[in-house]
Order: sequence, then C-alpha cells, then structure tokens
Amino acid sequence: MSGQLSQFPVSSLYVHVPFCAQKCEYCAFFSEAAKGETVNRYVDSIIREMELTAPDLKPETIFFGGGTPSLLNLQQWEKVLSNMQRLKLSNAREWTVECNPATVSLEKAKLLRSHGVNRISMGVQSLDANLLDRLGRVHSREMVFKSFDILRAAGFENINVDLMFAIPGQTMAVWKETLAEAVALGSEHLSCYEVIYEEDTPLYQQLKAGEFDVNEELACSMYEELLSAAEANGFRQYEIANFARSNSSSEIPDYACKHNVNYWRGGSFYGLGPSASGYIDGVRTKNWSNTTLYCEQLEKGQRAIESREELTPLSRAGELAAFGLRMTAGWPLVEFQKRTGFDLRSEWKTEIAQMVDLGYARLDEQKFQLTSRGLRYADWAAERFLRI
Ligand code: SF4
Repeated sequence: MSGQLSQFPVSSLYVHVPFCAQKCEYCAFFSEAAKGETVNRYVDSIIREMELTAPDLKPETIFFGGGTPSLLNLQQWEKVLSNMQRLKLSNAREWTVECNPATVSLEKAKLLRSHGVNRISMGVQSLDANLLDRLGRVHSREMVFKSFDILRAAGFENINVDLMFAIPGQTMAVWKETLAEAVALGSEHLSCYEVIYEEDTPLYQQLKAGEFDVNEELACSMYEELLSAAEANGFRQYEIANFARSNSSSEIPDYACKHNVNYWRGGSFYGLGPSASGYIDGVRTKNWSNTTLYCEQLEKGQRAIESREELTPLSRAGELAAFGLRMTAGWPLVEFQKRTGFDLRSEWKTEIAQMVDLGYARLDEQKFQLTSRGLRYADWAAERFLRI
C-alpha cells in the first residue's frame, strides 16, 4: 500500500505574510495590524526559516499569501527577494504574490517582477463602493482599475482577480455589474468565493444577532450567473471557485494556478511564516499563529512549529480524494492509485455508488468526477471520503 511518490526536494512553497492595514469584517485568517518594527523582525525571521528549509526545496511554485503581502515596503521586499535569490529559491515556474489594490505601486510591482514574481492575485472582492465598505476593505473601486493598469505596466501577464458573492446586501443586479466590470479588466484568472461566516468574525456576530438573513436561493442563482458569465467571457472553470483562460484544450487550463493544483492533487509543500501549514509525505505541520512567538523561535535558530500530525496512508488517501474532487477534472483513477496506493473504486465503493445515484458524480473507466450539480455539494461529497 505504499505507492506514494517520493516528495523530495519539495517543489511548492507557501509563505504567509501576517499583516493587514485593517481587519475585514469576514476574515478569519491569521493577520494583524502592521507595525514597522514587527514587520522588520518578521522579515528577518522568514529569511531564517527559508535558510532552514532551502536544502529540501526546489520550488516550481511559490505563493506569498496573507494577510497582505503587498503591505511590505520596498526595502523589506528587496531584502526578502535578494535572500531568496541567494538561497536559490527564486526560479519558480509560477510565483504568485497576493496584493491589495490599495498597496500596489509601480516601483513595488517592478521590483517583484524583476526578481521572478510572475503572477499577481488581486483581492478585489467587489466593485461596488457600498459593499467594499460593508466588508471593511481598505481599497476603493477606483484603486482596483488603477492597480490593474500598474501591474500590466510592470510586466505582469498573469493576474488573478478575487471576487466574493452572496455578500449581505448584495443584489443580483449588483453582482452582475461587478462580474461584467471584473471580466472586462481582462485578467487571466478569476476566483469567486461565496461569503462564509467564520466564527469570531464581525460578520458572523451580525448574522447571529439577526441583522441579516442568509439567502441560499440567491446565492445559488449568483453562482449560476458566475458560471455563465465566466464561460461567455472565455474563462474555463477548473475548480469549484476557480476559472482560467487557456491557449490550449488541455484539461487543466494554461492559466490555472499551478500552486493550488498541486495542493488539490495532494502534492507536498512547505508552509513558512506564522500560522502557515505545510504538508510533506503525509506529515502535516502548522506554525504558531503568533508573530512574536514565531520570531522568537526563529531567532533561536529553530522552526516555529506548533503541531505535527502524521496521517495514516488511508486517511491521507481520503483527504486527497476529497481535495481532488474540487477540480472539474475529478480524479484520474490511475493517478490516484499511483499517488496513494489505494483504488478509489474499491475503497469508497458505497460512497461513490450513492453519489452517482444522486446524480452528483460520474464514474467511468478512466476517472471519477463530480457533475456540475455535484460540485455545488462538494463539501458534503468530500466528507464521505474522509477516514480516520
Ligand atoms: S485583507 Fe485579506 S487577510 Fe487581511 S483582513 Fe482582509 S481578508 Fe483578511
């Protein structure tokens, strides 16, 4: 049962930058207000963590997420990027940095581009001024258009636009307008997520206090609208919430986010920075979600790992099945077996039969995949595959 692929050197790197200008109403990610000295200390620590992991790394994909990575100033970026060069970590095929439209300058964009960053993921969320305010975003709609032009001028030819739908107060008309304006930007990639209500967020408290209701039906119609707008404008859906342009007819579009595809296919990745998770050969690690503690550990020369969990081969395979189902391509049966050592058809025979009966999935000689109806219930389907 051991047919797992060897994962060294690790070809995927995630770096968490835990700073934001202010906290958005819906956000449960680990991030805090950026204070000059803390950010400098973080920069030194993340470089230290890169030094500790570089011998095991040969990144083909890098993703700087947050938080708001674009909040680092020019000097801080310069330091991170030159050290990555020194450590031979900067030759990735795809290198993404998340940007908030309020923190993009031409100088910064050019600096990132000249050091090998070739993909930007822009957190737009909405193009409606009232909703941006409602969500607690720091940027305006005008900043989105301006930043997009700056990124293009700096040479970025692969840009993702992140949107949210089913935001309290968002009507179908507003969603349609946002979608139309967003696709008109001409980005290569689109990610659109339904609002989720995470405990400990102001939005969740407002929902609990009865300040608004969740309208499931409207959310479904907005998702349908998204699917047709994306298709009509040349995007191909390759995951529940992700759409990309493609110059070829390959099953996964050319501009799909390779970093995330690796993640959904259960590939190994290092996760650096406070609160970041990593996953290497069935072992999941998680760093401390506390920037001071994180820095203290790194200053002592050790990684700031809070927990380490080794998954059994079967629970690992179950997770892999669940992740991969999010992709429209589903799971090629041979690839799944090669990666996990398990046969999807025999190990999850009952569950698969149930999903096929319900019209949520289809199974043929080559692959198992959710239908477009089933993708709406992907979380439910994913749970059926999990094993302890
Ligand atoms: S910018 Fe992103 S990470 Fe920061 S608070 Fe808003 S949603 Fe959370």
